[in-house]
Amino acid sequence: MALSLLLSVMMLLSMMMVVGIAWRQNEESVKQESFLLHNAWKDTRQDLMTNIRDYSFWGEAWNHLHLKMDKVWAFDQQNLGPGLYSEYHYEGVFVVDGQGRTTYSVINGKLSDLPLESWLGIYAAPLIAKVRLLAADEGATTMNAMIGSTPAIVAAAPITTGKVPGLKTLPGPPSVMVFVSRFTPEKLKIFGDSVGVANARIPESSQDAFMTPFIQEPVADAMPIVIRWDSDEPGRELLWVLLPMLLAAAIVLGLVARRVINHAMQNALLCDERFLQLVHSQRELAASEARFRDVAETASDWIWETDEAGVISYLSGRFVAATGYAVEKLLDKSLDHLLQHDTQPVSCWLLQLRLEDCYRQSLRCYVITASGEKRICSLVANAVAVNGQIVGYRGTVSDVTQEIESQARIHYLSQHDTLTGLPNRLYMSEFLLSRLQAHPTADRPLVLISLDLDHFKPINDTWGHAAGDSVLNEVAHRLRSVLKAGDLVSRQGGDEFIIIVSDLHGEQEIDACCQALLDEICRPFQLGQQDIFIGASMGIALAPDDAIQADELLRLADIALYKSKREGRNRWTWYSAEMAEQLVLRREMERNLRKAIAGNELRLFYQPRYCLNKSRLDGAEALIRWEHPTSGLIMPDKFIALAEETGLILDISDWVLHKACQDALSWPKSMYVSVNISPMEFRDGNLAVRVAQALQASGLEASRLELEITENITLENPQSALEVMQALKSLGVKLTVDDFGAGHASLGYLKTFPFDGMKMDRSYMNDFPHSSQAMSIVEGIIGLGKAFSLTVTAEGIETREQLQQLQAIACQEGQGYYLGRPMPLERFNRLLDAPELPS
Ligand code: C2E
Ligand code: MG
Ligand code: MG
Repeated sequence: MALSLLLSVMMLLSMMMVVGIAWRQNEESVKQESFLLHNAWKDTRQDLMTNIRDYSFWGEAWNHLHLKMDKVWAFDQQNLGPGLYSEYHYEGVFVVDGQGRTTYSVINGKLSDLPLESWLGIYAAPLIAKVRLLAADEGATTMNAMIGSTPAIVAAAPITTGKVPGLKTLPGPPSVMVFVSRFTPEKLKIFGDSVGVANARIPESSQDAFMTPFIQEPVADAMPIVIRWDSDEPGRELLWVLLPMLLAAAIVLGLVARRVINHAMQNALLCDERFLQLVHSQRELAASEARFRDVAETASDWIWETDEAGVISYLSGRFVAATGYAVEKLLDKSLDHLLQHDTQPVSCWLLQLRLEDCYRQSLRCYVITASGEKRICSLVANAVAVNGQIVGYRGTVSDVTQEIESQARIHYLSQHDTLTGLPNRLYMSEFLLSRLQAHPTADRPLVLISLDLDHFKPINDTWGHAAGDSVLNEVAHRLRSVLKAGDLVSRQGGDEFIIIVSDLHGEQEIDACCQALLDEICRPFQLGQQDIFIGASMGIALAPDDAIQADELLRLADIALYKSKREGRNRWTWYSAEMAEQLVLRREMERNLRKAIAGNELRLFYQPRYCLNKSRLDGAEALIRWEHPTSGLIMPDKFIALAEETGLILDISDWVLHKACQDALSWPKSMYVSVNISPMEFRDGNLAVRVAQALQASGLEASRLELEITENITLENPQSALEVMQALKSLGVKLTVDDFGAGHASLGYLKTFPFDGMKMDRSYMNDFPHSSQAMSIVEGIIGLGKAFSLTVTAEGIETREQLQQLQAIACQEGQGYYLGRPMPLERFNRLLDAPELPS
């Protein structure tokens, strides 16, 4: 690039120099021509001066031209005749006498009458006057003049005696001789040619007048005479010759330079590339070294190198931090000094590495650090070969202690429940499999207990999850405390546990174990200052009697557990073959029940309730029936529990509420209808809203609707139950405790909850009124109800005796087969016509 620039500059300079030289040459030439032309003009004037002096300071001329005008002497005898024109090219020759008259004139070599002034114009008079002054000194004069458009040199001199002896100068002005040399274009050209100046001319146009070259010859009191010519411009020739050569040279040079530059560029690129490659590889090398250093120093691994015998030749700095040993102490020692393996010396393992298969071989080994700590390491080794011969080994050592501990921890976590620390489902499955593989026998069976806590959910709901968690932890601890070392208790999730026990002989021992477990769970749990009670339901399945497959065993224990739950909880149940069948039947029933709700197979029966004081029909309890297309009328105790378990109860109850309200609307306004509400509806359903909707849809007065609720709802989550009941009360409906005395609730709830009445459980009628004990209990309950301002209804009145006795002890209301069985609406409506109490 620089070279081409240099060459270009040089070429430009050369051209400028050539142009400069040419210009100088032209200038010199013009100067020379000007000089020559000017000198020629001067010479012409000088010649004219010389000639006119010769002719005018001549005695003969004095005699023949001044004293008298002798034209014969002058013209004919050629003393001042045509010869001046032909020889000297004086176009005008004049003689003017002392009075200023032109006495002789020869124009272009011919005698003429023209006076001087008509030819010379304004120049004539001053010229004559000036010349006459010169007469005394025989002086002559020349001047430049423009005659028309033709330049001319005019010479004038007084005609004198020429100092010829004998001739006397007369007084008066002398005659004046005038020669005029006119430079016509042709003459001017010849004039120029005579000095080697081409095409001398008066400017042909005003444009030409301002061109070069030119000379100026002064004219008195007028514009100077400008003479132009064509300079031969030698420089131009030089340019014509040299410039093409220079251009050609420039082009050739340019091409050559281009080739050279290209070549140079290629070479340079090549060099650059090599240079860059070199720099790059050096940088890479440096980077790689730095990287190695960084990796060696910052990685948690340390790098080692040994010779072919396994003797340490290099240990990276990281080694010191990792082991606490000084590098120097281990250099030149066998790798075995540093790394140990349980079954073989590490060097043996190293030396058996072969070139072909040694890439990244690794060995789990350990190092005892300077502080005596055992660290588990992963040794990775490569053989180093030169010319196919192993000359040493190198590799890394990673401390994997933490990783292994983490793995162990992860393994532990994956197999244990994080909350209780008990084995989880995964661990239990593996444990169960291993126990089943030990082939338990009928004598020494493997006992699998599926355990589910009762009433645990309300703890979470009422006390919060932290409380729930602490109860679960305590449960885990208590269960564990019952079992022996080889047994397992695992948490399946939520409040479900699996217990696997072996070494129990016979039913009694198993029952005892279950009782112990239940006792532990039934002990109160302390939450702050409060004692909380929960229970547990259990299901038992045995291997090999019930099943020998793990999954099957679990399933059967679950079936048994299910039965425990259904049968009132807080118990254990042994699995039996019928249970499975029942379960299948239940599943079937569940399907059918779903269809029944959609298919309008549900019916409402009404059982009359009488006011015993007034002996009148007071209202009715709505009792559901399922009119199965093939099985006939199914009673609620066959499907309500199922509906509660499956959640179908909400749909069923909605239907009951709407239908009951609708039916009761046609009854006398004094009569009410009571509807049974499942405890489940207190937990999950938006009960108050649903009841309000039923009332609104039917238009039944809220005070004519009574809801029968079992006392158990007061146990699970008393606070939320109270809130629901208050919401119901605010609607205006009545609330009654159903089956009072059948559950576990303490009597205190009668005070806490806003009940309007209680229905004494029909079991109290069993021995009533014959047993005095039953008699006093019933009396007590009636008294209690009255004490709490509750309307007491006796359920299950089956005999006349019972009725009369209840009336005798002032029980307010009664219901039972004796008074009327549950019946379809039509029949109950007919009863409205005879509402008296049967006697
Ligand atoms: P419950 O609320 O205690 O209803 C009274 C049950 O006692 C009725 O049985 C009724 O037929 C029966 N009963 C009445 N008088 C006598 C008698 O003198 N002797 C005997 N042995 N039994 C008598 P049912 O209709 O089979 O109802 C059983 C239970 O089913 C009801 O007990 C109630 O808890 C539940 N139930 C019935 N209908 C519904 C309902 O619509 N919703 C809900 N959630 N539960 C319902
Ligand atoms: Mg009832
Ligand atoms: Mg009842």
